[in-house]
Amino acid sequence: MASFHTIAVHAGERLPRPDFTPVATPIYHSVAYLYDELADLDAIFAGTRPGPVYTRYGNPTLTALETAVAALEGGEAALCYASGMAAIHGALLAAGARAGTTVVAARDVYGATYALLDRLLATQGVQTRFVDGTDLAAVAAIVAETRPVALICETISNPLLRLADVPRWAEIAHAVGAALIVDNTFATPYLFRPLEHGADYVVHSATKYLAGHGDVLGGVVVTDAARRTTLNEINKLVGGNLGPQEAWLTLRGLKTLPLRVQRQCDNAAQIATWLADHPRVSHVNYPGLPTHPQHALAGRLLAHAAFGAVISFDLRDARRETVFRFMEALRLVLPATTLGDVYSLVLYPAGSSHRALDADMRRRIGIGDGLVRLSVGIEDPADIVADLDQALQKAAG
Ligand SMILES: *Cc1c(COP(=O)(O)O)cnc(C)c1O
Repeated sequence: MASFHTIAVHAGERLPRPDFTPVATPIYHSVAYLYDELADLDAIFAGTRPGPVYTRYGNPTLTALETAVAALEGGEAALCYASGMAAIHGALLAAGARAGTTVVAARDVYGATYALLDRLLATQGVQTRFVDGTDLAAVAAIVAETRPVALICETISNPLLRLADVPRWAEIAHAVGAALIVDNTFATPYLFRPLEHGADYVVHSATKYLAGHGDVLGGVVVTDAARRTTLNEINKLVGGNLGPQEAWLTLRGLKTLPLRVQRQCDNAAQIATWLADHPRVSHVNYPGLPTHPQHALAGRLLAHAAFGAVISFDLRDARRETVFRFMEALRLVLPATTLGDVYSLVLYPAGSSHRALDADMRRRIGIGDGLVRLSVGIEDPADIVADLDQALQKAAG
């Protein structure tokens, strides 16, 4: 009989392999995996048979999530990451960003993506040229001039909700043999599937709509099988892996993705229309409104007659203090630094995502001191409207 110490370590572990299949994926909190014969392990290391060996290389719970996201995006394969930023970094490296190469990026990419390119990758010899992503002639000209290895844009950008004409971006990229990376976080595959429109890599901050409940930080890249191997080879060295617990929460979140996003988009359309008529609001940015400069493109690209669930709007004649009064007066809508949750959330771009830019630059790109970003949740839209209305009255008073 083994001693108490030995029993404490081994009891209950490695029970016979079950002959049933769990309905929901278990959380595999195991770092390593045993096989009946060492030859199996050897074959996995040799790459001639699949299977987990060590969780930095792969984990069954992550495989389940990767299979699900790849299916939703219409891609062959996916790789999960510890965050959206780790996913973007992985995609850029896999696409060939290294010393002496150039990347072309839409100017209004997510702040940390901009900084990753402009500050970190710049120190490693990767040059990035930023361009107005809505000006396709400018994109084509800069691509022809610099012959980049990769282009990166967002389907719907933050906080002005500009669209990338992904099929045209893909043509421009492929004309010089560059890869197109599309950050599809704001659109989700429910509204748009970039791989079907020529993109080579789709990246997500799974933190937002994919997980959807504000309790997971994660990222994912969807691509073809060959590129997935490259992503995995890089990540085996970099180690930006998603944890199995987070993978499981994200997989659970995915089940309601279409229900949540449809509801959020319906709510957002109603709220955007209401805001556009509000006397204390001077302008609303929302691709579903006819006043949006790319309303027609949004209608062509996005499915389900839905236009996303993020809105931004300018409080009339407002300065920072007015916006703060408005945000502090909200009772239901939360002033939190994220988006895509089931909760409705507001954020002040001039003080957060675009804080690093000086006020002149911000105004020039359309991010005024009165701009508020609203990520619409799944609550009753009448309650969201009532909350916004009372806060708009208080902010003015
Ligand atoms: C949040 C976000 C990211 C970064 O994702 P993290 O999960 O926070 O690392 C990248 N792109 C977009 C569009 C985002 O909204």
